[in-house]
Amino acid sequence: MCLCGSIIHYKELVKSTNMQLSSFLQRFNEPETLKMAKLGRELRAKGVDVIDLSLGEPDFDTPAHIKEAAIKAIHDNWTHYTPVPGFPDLREAICFKFKRDNDLDYKPENIVVSTGAKQSLANAVLAIVDEGDEVIIPTPFWVTYSELVKIARGKVVEIKSSTEQGFKITAPQLEAAITPRTKMFLFSSPCNPSGAVYSQGELKELAAVFVKHPGIVILSDEIYEYINYTGKHQSIAQFAEIKDRVMLVNGLSKGFAMTGWRLGYIAAHAEIAKACEKVQGQFTSGANSITQKAAVTALTTDLRPSLEMVKEFTKRRARVMELLKEIPGLPCSEPDGAFYVFPDVSAYFGKSDGETTIHNAAEFSMYLLHKAHVTSVMGDAFGEPRCVRFSFANSLEKIEEGWRRIKKSLANLK
Ligand code: PMP
Repeated sequence: MCLCGSIIHYKELVKSTNMQLSSFLQRFNEPETLKMAKLGRELRAKGVDVIDLSLGEPDFDTPAHIKEAAIKAIHDNWTHYTPVPGFPDLREAICFKFKRDNDLDYKPENIVVSTGAKQSLANAVLAIVDEGDEVIIPTPFWVTYSELVKIARGKVVEIKSSTEQGFKITAPQLEAAITPRTKMFLFSSPCNPSGAVYSQGELKELAAVFVKHPGIVILSDEIYEYINYTGKHQSIAQFAEIKDRVMLVNGLSKGFAMTGWRLGYIAAHAEIAKACEKVQGQFTSGANSITQKAAVTALTTDLRPSLEMVKEFTKRRARVMELLKEIPGLPCSEPDGAFYVFPDVSAYFGKSDGETTIHNAAEFSMYLLHKAHVTSVMGDAFGEPRCVRFSFANSLEKIEEGWRRIKKSLANLK
């Protein structure tokens, strides 16, 4: 029986069998990103030519030398259970990467390797957040953040940012959101979905606020580190006064085109890392052995394939911005990182093509799915109900065709 966490399935099951699933399932939602991809797949299965601009993964293949390392790991029989926090050589390799890329000093005792950055984030939230604790999350945010906080029975406190402020919050906004119950601050830079990237100076200002509030843990999701169009990545962990309270999450999915391999990691104070290890020990144990061996190679060898990928994303970003500008009523700031554009679509609210009227971003997304056969993700899922996310992790050809269709369908809305 499939208990995939869907509320719809849950209601049907209760009606038909009288069986009760846990109330836990009702505390959180399915990821809207995955839901949209599923709808796209269903339409495709009916023979419709759907262009996928909803999913968050590089369309490139994993670099060959990383795949070779995995094949070698199989032949060398790295096929047994792994230590919960990760193989020692991988934890060393992660420390090497932090020094090389970020000039950050960590020891293996600070590192916990997980089955994707999503699990690293889940471990972190479950290790820190108690019932009623407030977790400050700037909008827009990655869909999973708010749901993890709800799972931990914490309270999400949003700080609204806007297109005008480049979707970044300021130190006074942060200060104003902090209360005696604030336990955690959770954000991503580069940001999914907005592509906003905090500069060193902006992070320094936020860090200065945290210095005044020593009880707050900062969960910094840096999974898009390499997909940065502004230059060198900046981590909030660089500020010595707060480093012990920063839980830095990263992973291989985006930068190395390794989404299916499932490898993420966290760097944190050794006591916090131990707490994450304890959580993980009861959920999944150590991450996949073969992936871990391949990850050592990914993190310690040639970064050129990743940089080549970013070059390609840079071209696509420029083209998407051109295509967006050709469509009236879609204001959008240029993303400084990640591979999404996040335009404000509210100019279309209240408009109709004579058949369908658009009232909100969800209806805008569904309109594009059914009329243009293009998938996107409504901004509500990211805490920004006026916007819709479109990925440019797709070929230039598909991007051109997708945006041609979007333009045509939107022109019918009056
Ligand atoms: N953080 C952000 C901001 C993401 O966009 C994603 C993936 N979409 C993740 C974390 C999870 O990455 P992983 O594949 O390593 O679980």
